[in-house]
Amino acid sequence: MTGSRENIKGFIKHPEFRFVESYVEDSKMLEQVISESETIFHLAAAVGVDIVVNNPIHTIETNIRGTENVFQFAAKHNKKVIIASTSEVYGKSTKDTFSETDDLLLGSPVNYRWSYAASKALDEYLGMAYYKEKNLNVTIVRFFNTVGPRQTGQYGMVIPRFVSQAVNGKDITVFGTGGQSRCFCHVFDTVRALMLMDRCENVRGETFNIGSQHEISINQLAEMITKACGSSSNIVHIPYSEAYSPGFEDMLRRKPNIDKINEATGWTPEKSLDNIIEDVKNYTIAN
Ligand code: UDP
Repeated sequence: MTGSRENIKGFIKHPEFRFVESYVEDSKMLEQVISESETIFHLAAAVGVDIVVNNPIHTIETNIRGTENVFQFAAKHNKKVIIASTSEVYGKSTKDTFSETDDLLLGSPVNYRWSYAASKALDEYLGMAYYKEKNLNVTIVRFFNTVGPRQTGQYGMVIPRFVSQAVNGKDITVFGTGGQSRCFCHVFDTVRALMLMDRCENVRGETFNIGSQHEISINQLAEMITKACGSSSNIVHIPYSEAYSPGFEDMLRRKPNIDKINEATGWTPEKSLDNIIEDVKNYTIAN
């Protein structure tokens, strides 16, 4: 579980907020809360490379069963669903930028690292099927490396890990050559995109990339974080086979084309990578 009760303590007592602790597999509870809602932001999933590599059954079952339940009850009670998918669905493709209608290039099922991508791709197919057959008001969003304060580094996420290593004077662990690149989007911007989607009618039955277009290699990221934290940590390189498991395949790059969401809602990210690192650093130091 990547969530924490600490993350909601700022508003847990707010009169318009209600917290129900349960699982998407709990059909009875889920139908009850869905029937009382207007929009369901379905963000519940097994996520994080460590969880996916170490718990493939949990990954596949949570991501597929939970989503089946959400769609089924949302269709029954005529509710809107915004479901989180992931840039992982683009798989091993090495395109410069990914657009929503691009083909997916997944690795062999022998390598269960791709089970996460496959499970989320199936969620997307199911969402589109519910849209077509049951007229479900569903929007699919593919997140590209969402990061920010309060994200745990425990399950592999690179920015909280590097920041924590830098502020604690530990080695910064770059996996592989560090030449692989990513685009990091502040959770503030991602949430803003979701709120805009909820207010737009033209997003029904559509799929959107949500992410930043600032691409950075993991080597450059390690240097940037070391500098921003005023750290004297060493940057070390660890082979993928040691960091994850033998035969692990990483994605070389992952940059979104965000024209579609921009045209539909006017959204573009506001926070820079400097802002992200600053916020994660301040949070890490304070905790
Ligand atoms: N990574 C790294 N060191 C770490 C954790 C991650 O070099 O301690 C790399 C990882 O191999 C990947 C990138 O950072 O190439 C982003 O990893 P993350 O798990 O944050 O997201 P992903 O893009 O893999 O979903």
